[in-house]
Amino acid sequence: MISNESGANGPAFFCLKILLMRGRVFDGNHNACHESWQNMAWNKGGCMSDHMTVLVTGGAGYIGSHMVLALLDAGHQPVILDDFSTGHETLVPNGVPVFRGNVADPALVAEICNSYDIDAVAHFAASIVVPESVTDPLKYYLNNTASTTRFIAACVQAGIKRFVFSSTAAVYGNQDSNPIAEDASTQPENPYGTSKLMSETILCDCARATGISYVILRYFNVAGADPKGRAGQLSEPATHLIKVAVEAAVGKRASMQVYGTDYPTPDGTCIRDYIHVSDLIGAHMAALAHLQAGGESMLANCGYGHGASVRDVLDVVAAQAGKKLAISDAPRRAGDAAILVADSTKLRTALGWTPQYDDLQKIVSDALAWERANS
Ligand code: UDP
Repeated sequence: MISNESGANGPAFFCLKILLMRGRVFDGNHNACHESWQNMAWNKGGCMSDHMTVLVTGGAGYIGSHMVLALLDAGHQPVILDDFSTGHETLVPNGVPVFRGNVADPALVAEICNSYDIDAVAHFAASIVVPESVTDPLKYYLNNTASTTRFIAACVQAGIKRFVFSSTAAVYGNQDSNPIAEDASTQPENPYGTSKLMSETILCDCARATGISYVILRYFNVAGADPKGRAGQLSEPATHLIKVAVEAAVGKRASMQVYGTDYPTPDGTCIRDYIHVSDLIGAHMAALAHLQAGGESMLANCGYGHGASVRDVLDVVAAQAGKKLAISDAPRRAGDAAILVADSTKLRTALGWTPQYDDLQKIVSDALAWERANS
């Protein structure tokens, strides 16, 4: 047994564990690990107060990598599980332990949980492209629903007590009215939404049976990049509107299309509630704190409560880039709901979430800065 003044969860112990795991994880930079621990808030006894070790699936991806940064910034210990199908090693900060593999691999999940005292799981790993889910639904039911089921089973087996799950506004589909509250009917327009909704149900049933507590977060449209420029979207090929538009703005693509101009909206294009990725991660940090404090399982929307049309977004991107984008109108894209705007009252009241970047200009400027720096 290794001991040190601050106990088995202290910094030296963790650094040693990371070093011991070399060969099984591709990272393990002792200096960087030490540095990340130096930034932590210590209480009088020399121990971390409220310290958590959090397993972040999809931690090398766009949203998961922002979660890893937020955990480090707050003095927690992230442990990444990622199969790198869409993740990037460049998005993994030095010193963070990384397990390369699939969430559906129970032996790997058991190995991680045996190696680290996991206080909570944040499950981001998923396939997330709406039109692809229409043409390849099995990919979504296998990657999202089936793999998540196996992952939940492995977490139950390992005794995980807290689970934060990335879900989506796509579970709502077309609604008669917006903003949409959590008690609205669920009627997904595409297999992506259905695959996530089924996972929600499975998680809720398992939580009731096993005592796991969870927070399900239904994301509206996540965009932007870390305001400090440490992480952003690297997906290839890009499909999400703001990413596609900033690629067009920096000359990475010659042109882009507006999918559908005959929707029942003021300018005929779809309306979405774009949320800055750092505010979305703020919701996850609030969810973890809620669960750690013994809070009840819950479900909350993540959005600002107001929307922008596709044309609104493209106007902002063009204005910030200082150039006219080559845009053409195209038919509707399969699976798109006309309007998705969050009622995020629950997130604000139950979890005390206060957004910091509720501004389309800021979302676009951070996305553009990231694109310029990484193209
Ligand atoms: N969209 C578009 N052109 C693009 C990408 C997206 O017109 O190149 C539209 C899309 O049809 C939808 C909105 O932008 O109406 C948001 O789509 P996105 O893929 O960003 O997110 P989703 O709402 O599908 O999760």
